[in-house]
Amino acid sequence: MKDKKTELISCPCCKKSESYPWAVENGFTAVKCLNCGFVYVNPRPVEFLINDAVKTGVHSDVDHNRTAIARRVKSNIPLYEKTIGEMYSDVWSEHKKISWLDIGAGYGEFIEAISRLATSDSKILGIEPMKPKVENALKRGLNIKECYLKDINEQFDYISLVNVFSHIPEFDVFLIELKKILAPGGEFFMETGNIGDLSSYKEVPSELDLPDHLVFAGEENIFTFLNNAGFEIVAIKRRRKDGFINFAKSIIKKMMGRQITLALPYTSKYRSLLIRAKLKKSTINGSINE
Ligand SMILES: [Zn+2]
Repeated sequence: MKDKKTELISCPCCKKSESYPWAVENGFTAVKCLNCGFVYVNPRPVEFLINDAVKTGVHSDVDHNRTAIARRVKSNIPLYEKTIGEMYSDVWSEHKKISWLDIGAGYGEFIEAISRLATSDSKILGIEPMKPKVENALKRGLNIKECYLKDINEQFDYISLVNVFSHIPEFDVFLIELKKILAPGGEFFMETGNIGDLSSYKEVPSELDLPDHLVFAGEENIFTFLNNAGFEIVAIKRRRKDGFINFAKSIIKKMMGRQITLALPYTSKYRSLLIRAKLKKSTINGSINE
């Protein structure tokens, strides 16, 4: 059927199909996998609608009156500078020229932080499919391209994916593509929330933003994806996101009529997971099957 807008899928993490409804937003349901706990939109918008949403920031068939999903958050720059400074202190202390690619760079806060940490002759590039974000970052002199991962033909020492995971329908496929442009001995960094580890939707500190966000992992789900793709964890940080500022923001959103649960602002198990991973030696030698 050509005009089909959604399709039923099995779990993008473990491929099993038993699940139960976990959250409803904007007319879409996120289900939780009975086997692995992964949370995913099901039925899911078909592929061309997802691609369209990535470019525009909103699904054309969803009427929730929100086109501007995010804006530049300047305070993220020193925050990432500190966190990535610590997590990669061994790299920075070598003062070596590196190459770093940030996928879904947005307004460029993350690559701005990397630029402050890396040597001045390092190559730092962000890619981002949303035009307004790219234009904003270019105006500030950042090296950002309006394109997708598949458009990149060179290799990078470090590749990062910061709060983009939930937009990627099939993360296993994504990691296969990513490995093609990872230099020998290269590393992967990602940040995403641990929604899959929460016992119920009530514990989500904000909204899930369905269906712009399609998938939500717990720690074990991320480990499974990375392990299957031949990565091992170098370091992991778990950052609280349910502090006072977030609570205040949630109250404002609630007053604007958004679907926010205000309960449990200080006791939620919600964490932002920051994961540094590298390819296992056996993978580099090519002995892990896909
Ligand atoms: Zn599953």
